[in-house]
Amino acid sequence: MRHSRTALVTGGSRGIGRAVALRLAADGALVAVHYGGNEEAAAETVESIAKAGGRAFAVRARFGEEGALDQLFEGLTAGLAAHGEDGLDVLVNNAGIHLTGSIEQITEEEFDRAMAVNVRTPVFVIQRALPLLRDGGRIVNVASAATRVGSPVQIGYTVSKTALLGLAAPLANGLGRRGITVNTVNPGVIRTDMTSDWTGDPQALAGLASITALGRIGLPEDVADVVGFLASPQGRWITGQTVDASGGTYLGPIPQG
Ligand code: NAD
Repeated sequence: MRHSRTALVTGGSRGIGRAVALRLAADGALVAVHYGGNEEAAAETVESIAKAGGRAFAVRARFGEEGALDQLFEGLTAGLAAHGEDGLDVLVNNAGIHLTGSIEQITEEEFDRAMAVNVRTPVFVIQRALPLLRDGGRIVNVASAATRVGSPVQIGYTVSKTALLGLAAPLANGLGRRGITVNTVNPGVIRTDMTSDWTGDPQALAGLASITALGRIGLPEDVADVVGFLASPQGRWITGQTVDASGGTYLGPIPQG
């Protein structure tokens, strides 16, 4: 039996994950659109993919809750089977939560939650996905450019995303003989629900543009195209790497005028 390419995108119902799901589907993959709670958004993403001629299905699992990974993989394998598939080619660990706060402000509960969703979940999603992952597969983890910026008011978020960066190299070595690549993409500030608090503020946007080489805030598609490339056959020779997708935020002084 001839298989088509398959993909799982966590947090695929909105924002960056939605754009990644659309891009992978446009590239021909059957996409499992994972969502945490917003069924409507997941259904809309699946419908948009179908309208564009692609194939997708939604899978619900609330990360950080008991049994979430069982629920995810039951939904994934059932959805794949319904489309005549039993393996996975691309896994994108995109779901994540932001945590604002300085070292003085963050609480142990908030920190544990950020670690549970941003680190523990991707590690064990990968562990559970391995038996399904076909040779030549792709794993892409979505971390953040916050890992190189050093913002004192994003300490918990930065620590969690920096821990996530640590996954790619050892996994790349462990899985490379099977042609499986493992990489991390670090988005800069992207216009999504996560950043909606301040992306409506023209002054904040102008401030960001002034420290970004490409001179504007990022869009979900800007990141999705990078993930799409790494996930594609053309990305086969890149593994164990972190790819910055920030449009060049905080590279150094930008000449004015
Ligand atoms: P978003 O808030 O729009 O989407 C986050 C996604 O993660 C949603 O689909 C949500 O359902 C899912 N999610 C969050 N908590 C979950 C949970 N407990 N269980 C299941 N699903 C859960 O955010 P986004 O901006 O699209 O972010 C996507 C990824 O990109 C995140 O990992 C984020 O940290 C990272 N990132 C975003 C930005 C940015 O500026 N937007 C910058 C750098 C990195």
